[in-house]
Amino acid sequence: MYAEVILANPVKGIDKPFHYAIPKDLQLEVGSQVLVSFGRRKDIGYVIGFVEKPEVKKVKPILELLNPARFFDEDSVALARFVADRYLSFFIRALRLTMPPGTKSREKVKRRKKKDQRPETGDQRPETGDQRPEEIKIGKHFKPTIYQQEALDLIFSALKNKKAQTILLHGVTGSGKTEVYLQAVAEVLKQGEGAIILVPEIILTPQLVERFTERFSDSMVLLHSGETMKNRQIAWEKVVSGEARVVLGTRTALFAPVKNLGLIVMDEEYENTYKADQSPRYSAKTVAEFISRQKNIPLVLGSATPSLESFYQAQNGDYAAVELPKRIDDRPLPPVKVVDMREEIKTRNFSVLSRFLRSAIQGALSRKEQIILFMNRLGYFTFVMCRDCGKIVECPRCSVSLSYYKNQEKLVCNRCGFQAKAPLVCPNCQSANIKFFGSGTSRIEKEVSDIFPKARILRVDSQTVKRSGAHNAIYGAFKEGKADVLIGTQLVTKGLDVANVTLVGVVAADTSLNLPDFRAAERTFQQLTQVAGRAGRHRLPGKVIIQTYMPEHYAIIAAAKHDYFSFYQEEEKNRKEADFPPFCQLVRIVLSSEIEKEAEEAAKSLSQNLCEVMKKEQVLGPAKAPIARLRGRFRYHILVKSQNIDEANQSIKKAFQNTSLKDTVNVIFDVDPQNMM
Ligand code: ADP
Ligand code: ZN
Ligand code: ZN
Repeated sequence: MYAEVILANPVKGIDKPFHYAIPKDLQLEVGSQVLVSFGRRKDIGYVIGFVEKPEVKKVKPILELLNPARFFDEDSVALARFVADRYLSFFIRALRLTMPPGTKSREKVKRRKKKDQRPETGDQRPETGDQRPEEIKIGKHFKPTIYQQEALDLIFSALKNKKAQTILLHGVTGSGKTEVYLQAVAEVLKQGEGAIILVPEIILTPQLVERFTERFSDSMVLLHSGETMKNRQIAWEKVVSGEARVVLGTRTALFAPVKNLGLIVMDEEYENTYKADQSPRYSAKTVAEFISRQKNIPLVLGSATPSLESFYQAQNGDYAAVELPKRIDDRPLPPVKVVDMREEIKTRNFSVLSRFLRSAIQGALSRKEQIILFMNRLGYFTFVMCRDCGKIVECPRCSVSLSYYKNQEKLVCNRCGFQAKAPLVCPNCQSANIKFFGSGTSRIEKEVSDIFPKARILRVDSQTVKRSGAHNAIYGAFKEGKADVLIGTQLVTKGLDVANVTLVGVVAADTSLNLPDFRAAERTFQQLTQVAGRAGRHRLPGKVIIQTYMPEHYAIIAAAKHDYFSFYQEEEKNRKEADFPPFCQLVRIVLSSEIEKEAEEAAKSLSQNLCEVMKKEQVLGPAKAPIARLRGRFRYHILVKSQNIDEANQSIKKAFQNTSLKDTVNVIFDVDPQNMM
């Protein structure tokens, strides 16, 4: 027998395993970490399988077993294979996702004494064996509503029949989806199995985390990148040893080696944090579906605003679907008033607050109720413009305007982090006649405090929550009633469940509608629906006000009516006409270089080669990417449309091999892209 070994650091461009002879006294298994020599160097390798006949005649031996622990199992190898193939990435990169967090990528030849050999991740606890005879503490449940019961029955039946089924749980905000997850997981635990619960972002879902912790206490761990490496390693070990049976985390938690995995839940499956933004650029939903098939277990996708793709699959019958149409206790969804901001301008009201929103804020404040003001920052400009030459100050490295932060008198690039002092004169013509269009959340904050000087205001945006824990602190203060108004970006749309919030104001609803992205309407609809769901969740009735310049847009009309289905129908029609997902699958290829001509030419030649291996009408572009320059690199992109992603990937690989590219050109393959910018 020979071992099939994948190198931890692939020699440039070579993405395949090599065969090594196994010395007699060496006990190897899939997942063993070994030392091998390759060419003239020595490197870490991982055993991914065994073969009887090696590829080549002269086979080198494995030099050493570096660690008695297994870093992954056979299922992980198959999973990594799938991820690498599907997302056009290196196999080792995909395999790394299945290894303990912080696994070293290079052998620094700081070898420990044999006696003291421990897994790199720290203590390896003794096998605890099957913990099924042992009692697991589970907190008290609510008695399910009839709708929740229907959802649970569907999930239980898939669990019982070991069915690889995707179940779409479509329930309005506050309809009791989280309670369904909790009870489904409890059932899985009773069967002696484990579960993975994915959330878009841990810090944004404090209440869900709290409820899971309450219910499952010691049998649960959190796994996400906000934790220290040490804590992640401890959590991972608890999963390996079987001490933890429930993993709650962000997309990477999907790869945790949960023993007897019985169920995967994805909350708010449409969120784009579920798509990795580095290679392998995997989509957690697609990977979860693979695991569901691999292990014959159900996958539950829950949302008030499912992605168009998922809802389409449910309509088609590919997914089982179940609906929670009402909020718990029949609490009504809040009425939504749409305010046409063009009318405000006509009455010479140039404030960011319409008269209507202003008086609603006044009312809520006088009743000592709380208010959330939401500002959609995607595509929203906060910029510096010269009134003489018209120049907008841009980032020197990216083709986006710099945002102006008034408090700190500085300009910041939201793409690359570039910072500069706010200029006193125009950098282009030296005129002093420059205007700062400071807007966004800080402008709203200023206007609200000018009009309502007594109101206590909290602001959350990516700036204020940079420090870890800051979001929780702000959120906690708001929940305890230490502020009257919470002003925020995307960050306030999720998770917040504050009883005293009766008014939600959307200050600018349509800033994201005009982005050059086929999902612009969908994103806007989802955001509006989610933020509207923050109002009136408990006894006090709520109200939502949406300010917009496009009151006739179907995404806004549907969100105002809490009408997912009519939005879906309209959007489905548009996608079909334009031939976009779910009616095809996409691969976006971005080519970049510090020299514009190079990027353009590389894109042209790759696109020509693509046209030779697939139909011309499948290849869109090349074109300048909407963000034409990023971190000093010029960017071009190509979009490939296909009915069969595996075939498309094969063709792309072939075309790529046929294209000779300069070393200075960087290529990104993004299969099922979420970001079109
Ligand atoms: P969602 O996840 O759909 O937003 P939640 O599961 O958070 O909804 O439920 C909304 C609220 O109703 C929560 O405060 C939750 O504790 C409560 N709740 C959920 N299910 C029930 C039930 N069956 N009976 C009583 N209260 C419930
Ligand atoms: Zn920049
Ligand atoms: Zn100027």
